[in-house]
Amino acid sequence: MNRIYNFSAGPAILPEEVLKEAQENLFMLPGVGMSILEISHRSKTYDAIHLQAKQDMAELMGLDDNYSLLFLQGGASLQFSMVPMNLMPPANKADYISTGAWSKKAIKEAKRVGTVNVAASTEAENFVRIPKQSELKLDPEASYVHFTSNNTIYGTEWHNEPEAGNVPLICDASSDFMHKKVDINKYALIYAGAQKNLGPAGVTVVIIRKDLLARSQDSLHTMLNYKTHVENDSLYNTINVFGVYIIGLVAKWLKKNGGLNAMYDLNKEKAAILYKCIDESGGYYKGHALPDSRSLMNVTFRLPSEELEKKLISEATKAGFDGLKGHRSVGGLRASIYNAFPKKGVEDLVSFMKDFQSKNG
Ligand SMILES: *Cc1c(COP(=O)(O)O)cnc(C)c1O
Repeated sequence: MNRIYNFSAGPAILPEEVLKEAQENLFMLPGVGMSILEISHRSKTYDAIHLQAKQDMAELMGLDDNYSLLFLQGGASLQFSMVPMNLMPPANKADYISTGAWSKKAIKEAKRVGTVNVAASTEAENFVRIPKQSELKLDPEASYVHFTSNNTIYGTEWHNEPEAGNVPLICDASSDFMHKKVDINKYALIYAGAQKNLGPAGVTVVIIRKDLLARSQDSLHTMLNYKTHVENDSLYNTINVFGVYIIGLVAKWLKKNGGLNAMYDLNKEKAAILYKCIDESGGYYKGHALPDSRSLMNVTFRLPSEELEKKLISEATKAGFDGLKGHRSVGGLRASIYNAFPKKGVEDLVSFMKDFQSKNG
């Protein structure tokens, strides 16, 4: 059996080279005589893996000493709580920009801590777009502004960060983390579940600007306090050793392939191939996102009928394209084409879609 094309939104495709290296080392790490699954998180071997992963990621993103990079657990979903618990006081109010289901979940948890000002929402339009800067009703006294850089379910993405002035900007980047090089100095905190664009499930990367740590109160539960994790270099408790190891391999792969600028060029090329097919189908394929808000990571589209959508998905699955079914709240199809997804796979999907249209048009 051959590997198929995995278009799943997450857990998602990983680079083949990474999987092969992990496979080779799974029984025994070179020079260690034990599997990566068996070593202590307090061992020298793990220390080196941890440090290298952090250094490679910092180099890729251009992170400096003003930031700490953490590997936490609990998913991006736990960050929906940790962000407000640590950072909403003392003002106890924050701005949230609502661009989809994940933004709404973040808002739900923030409301348990303080006052949430929904600075803009595109829900009335079924989240087909990202709001414009002029639509944002930001509060200059807010503790922070929170936004979701890529809306995994709807297939929309911010192409430029919202301007938050002097208010710290916080981003849930779960589904487009490291798909391009961002100006890190615009951000106070970025978090991302690894399983979309970076590694396996079970690790959440948090990048926090160190001055924000002054806000975390000692009354917080130890594990929910960012200070705990910064002071212990993410090793207060047992870390996801295997997850960080794979993230390290992915970071090495990104460096080898030209870093984040090269990745961004390739991501733009891949997405353009698929959107072109949608746009040139004479309305047969219809994108969910408005063109200026389209995601490079998750391409969402519909067909003329649900029957045809089912038929396409079923035939695509047989042809070796997996994970194309859209999220139930949008319907239709979603092709997730993260960093590790090969351009050839996008080209093959487009040939398949053209063929399907000519037979079922
Ligand atoms: C997948 C996803 C989440 C949830 O991640 P978990 O790690 O499952 O908690 C949050 N935000 C966005 C944008 C996502 O794509």
